[in-house]
Amino acid sequence: MNILVANLGSTSFKYRLFRFDGSTELLLAKGGYERVTDYGSTIDDCLASLRAAGHVRDASDLHGVGFKTVQGGEVTGCLPADERVEQALLGTADLAPAHNPPYAAGIRQFRAKLPGVPLVALFETAFYQWVPAYANRYAVPDSWFAAGVRRYGFHGASHKFIAERSAELLGRNDVAAIVQRLYQDGPKPVTGSPLRVISCHLGGSSSVTGIRNGVAIGTSMGLSPQSGLPQNNRVGDLDSAAIPFIQKKLNLTTAEVERQLTKESGLLGLSGVSNDLREIREAALAGNARAQTAIDLLIHSIRHWVGAFWLELGGCDALVFTAGIGENSAWIREAVCAGLSDLGLVLDSAVNNAAPIETNLATAASRTRVLIIPTNEELVVARETRRLITASHG
Ligand code: AMP
Repeated sequence: MNILVANLGSTSFKYRLFRFDGSTELLLAKGGYERVTDYGSTIDDCLASLRAAGHVRDASDLHGVGFKTVQGGEVTGCLPADERVEQALLGTADLAPAHNPPYAAGIRQFRAKLPGVPLVALFETAFYQWVPAYANRYAVPDSWFAAGVRRYGFHGASHKFIAERSAELLGRNDVAAIVQRLYQDGPKPVTGSPLRVISCHLGGSSSVTGIRNGVAIGTSMGLSPQSGLPQNNRVGDLDSAAIPFIQKKLNLTTAEVERQLTKESGLLGLSGVSNDLREIREAALAGNARAQTAIDLLIHSIRHWVGAFWLELGGCDALVFTAGIGENSAWIREAVCAGLSDLGLVLDSAVNNAAPIETNLATAASRTRVLIIPTNEELVVARETRRLITASHG
């Protein structure tokens, strides 16, 4: 079964082609296009290059196309990418302006170009369908909640990948099996001890998710990806009073406030140097105090959320790091794990610096294991697309 995963940006189109054969999962091809103005011709180019490489003969060799859609409000999960999904993407476009309109447009084009090929949307919010009600509420009037102001959570494909892979690595195939079937069967009880994982997706966009027995109990992101940890250029958590206050004080329009919060805030706004942690670190080491503050705030914020889920879970069997910063930055991992011996976590500095993948970075005596697991969001989209198609064909 060949599944194409399409990653659509406002002017970009990236794709990966996976082939599933029994339990074998193969990445057959990947590629992308920049400065895209018309998804229709880009889809043609993509198919032509897959044909030229001998991966498919024509569109009938594609068994499904999966999309990592971001925000659909109440519409979530892993669903046929039909008109209802398109409407949900457009209806919540204000909450994910960089992602939702391109996905709605791209899905429409795929439907026109590939009639008969199943299209599947896996929402980034899907992994949070089962968080307790209190964890998806803000303390706002009910009319706001009814209008959709609630915590949805994002990076669901990545955290789901971590939930499954960490369970496998910890020898908990029972939990891994629950994660695999989560969007078909929902959460399932676990016999024996619970598995408590805290997943830190730290990259250009970052979030921390608490996971019990393969199911998210909460996450740092809320209504939009502009929440939680400070992001590369995006603000992260902010007191709601700041917006009317600064609008009056600096005489800013709402659009300008939005622009500054999404483009000039986060690590870039804090450091004044860059949105790339490597450059911020260089500046901090050279004595730049704002760069050091940006780093300190990021670490504090990660620890704040890790601490919150540690208590909620009643402990932590594995603390997992993933994405650009989580996988590559030993010093961030070290800072996040510092001073936790009373909680039972002791990082092995030498192993952490060597950064072996999918290997425990904590000491043998540490109760909590620390892991780097490279995430694979496209593979999750492809797997879920395959599961939905297989299920709907009996
Ligand atoms: P991602 O969004 O997962 O691709 O992560 C991209 C981010 O990872 C970049 O903006 C960098 O800040 C960060 N990054 C990548 N490599 C390193 C590194 N070796 N040290 C610190 N940060 C890194």
